[in-house]
Amino acid sequence: MELGPDPHSFANFKHAKTTQIDLVLNCDFEAKEFHGHVDITVDLLQDTDVVLLDISGLKIQECSEADSGKKLDYSTATQAYCGSCLEVKLPPNACTKGSQAKVRVKYNTTAQSSGIQWLSPSQTKGGDQPFCFTQCQAIQTRTVLPCQDTPSVKAPFSFTITVPSDLTAVCSGLRQGEPTPNGDGTHTFVYHQPMPVMAYLIAAAVGKLAKASLGPRSDLYAEPEILEAARWEYDGITETFIVEAEKVCGTEYKWKTYDIVMLPSSFAYGGMENPNATFLSSALLAGDKSLTTTLAHEITHSWCGNMVTNAFWKDFWLNEGFTRYVERRILGAMFGPAYRGLQMTYGYFDLIKNCNFLAHRPYLLKLQPEIVGVDPDESFSRIPYEKGSLFLHYLEGIVGGEQPMTTWLRTYFTDFAEQSVTTDDFRDHFTAHFTKAGVDMSGVAWDHWLHGVGLPDYDIYAHIDNSMTVRCKEIAHTWLHDDGNGANASDIDGMKAHQVMVILDTIINENTHFSGDKLDRMDSTYHFSETKNCEIGFRWFLLCLKNNHRSCFEGVKAYLSRNGRGVYVKPLYVELYRVDPEYAREVYGGLSDFYMDVVAEPIKKTLEL
Ligand SMILES: [Zn+2]
Repeated sequence: MELGPDPHSFANFKHAKTTQIDLVLNCDFEAKEFHGHVDITVDLLQDTDVVLLDISGLKIQECSEADSGKKLDYSTATQAYCGSCLEVKLPPNACTKGSQAKVRVKYNTTAQSSGIQWLSPSQTKGGDQPFCFTQCQAIQTRTVLPCQDTPSVKAPFSFTITVPSDLTAVCSGLRQGEPTPNGDGTHTFVYHQPMPVMAYLIAAAVGKLAKASLGPRSDLYAEPEILEAARWEYDGITETFIVEAEKVCGTEYKWKTYDIVMLPSSFAYGGMENPNATFLSSALLAGDKSLTTTLAHEITHSWCGNMVTNAFWKDFWLNEGFTRYVERRILGAMFGPAYRGLQMTYGYFDLIKNCNFLAHRPYLLKLQPEIVGVDPDESFSRIPYEKGSLFLHYLEGIVGGEQPMTTWLRTYFTDFAEQSVTTDDFRDHFTAHFTKAGVDMSGVAWDHWLHGVGLPDYDIYAHIDNSMTVRCKEIAHTWLHDDGNGANASDIDGMKAHQVMVILDTIINENTHFSGDKLDRMDSTYHFSETKNCEIGFRWFLLCLKNNHRSCFEGVKAYLSRNGRGVYVKPLYVELYRVDPEYAREVYGGLSDFYMDVVAEPIKKTLEL
């Protein structure tokens, strides 16, 4: 079976394109499955007698014409790395260009549906109710519903979901009234997403969720046990971020509401920008608002990613690099250019770390990685984020600063609203805009940035405000080159969390050996091993493991058991396995149910399990 125009999907969307999805599902915690049906409306852009859908780990029961109930023939073909193709024969009267068909697929999910995470009551804060949530980006929607699972296809959707009466379902759309009781211990929620979106933005979280207000268009959903902590962290700032994002992007927030759902800390990501219902990991509740930058990031996706989308996964930087760039513009506007400089330094260090970590896979070190035949989740890294945002910062310098960039962003988000774009589309649009504005574009090093491997040739420090990082580098220097002489606890008093991260990253990126004694002194000075901040904790334990510091093992184990985020735990397992393979396997063995598949699979590969 041939793949479609998107190398990560079978969808024949150039012939039959999805224009509406209506999902009706029961959430069955006992069977750990969703069952029900999906109606997929397709418009025929060319003559064809089939619609090709992506599926993976789904049990298909029946395909029919949604309105008449007339059965439709179907078949499936398997292709290893991105699931299977469900080929549904279209009704004979709907096979010509210009016609429309509505196909119903009855199905249920299975234990292989890796886009759904089922948590037992003991894996929740409350301990008395189960929890489940979906995570569909990049190509996991096909494990939740049959669909054209490519970011090149956008359609509005509805999601009707039946759940146990004492649980709440939050989906990535606008809620249509109160849930309807069914008289059998269940009730049904209905959500509509009127904006055309990619299948990967279809999402649901079901659990014992309490609600609190965060602002004029924002509610928070969280387990009652963490509701107040989360409300304290995000109250007010949610609306401020939205308003600032509107200013930087030059266009208004189009999605009406912006709610947040707090997920358990086993979530594989910091956040997921599901429209109207951003999912955030409760590991971000640092207790001091120091990680609310992730919220600025997810809000920014309302423009970069959710409204203007990468057409293919190799263009992922158009989602994430743009989002990082705008996120830091927002933070700069709110807290000053020095804070933007700090965030960019932190991002640059992340880029260096990722280039080192992925040095054996140079095809991933390009802005447009070569990922045909590779699962995009498996190649996920910070490269598209940090190299992409650095590229936009470089371009900002060429076109004359922040204001010209915002003027261009306004036209970009207007001209490509609700569309999927490629890197070529971006380049053509950017070049045309600034050429018209009289900017000399001849010196732009397109080839170097778009196709170069690894760190770009760009002196970031010459182009940012470094005043918040000077002291960080001095402190790092004390430990790197003067054995920590003169260091004391007050060094980091009053510092922003990202400054502390810069200290640790400066040390990590030097790759200098630190003795166990030095690490112990460092920890007794700054108490890094006790931090509640998961970003600082990650860096501290990474530094310890890189230096074979076995006395950190208990701390590492505790960290790995309360954080399921891939960008932290994957590198930690790599180092732990290098230091002590047996111990690494033992730690993982006790936690294998905790991690999501998208994180567990690469860890298993690391541990050679
Ligand atoms: Zn993102």
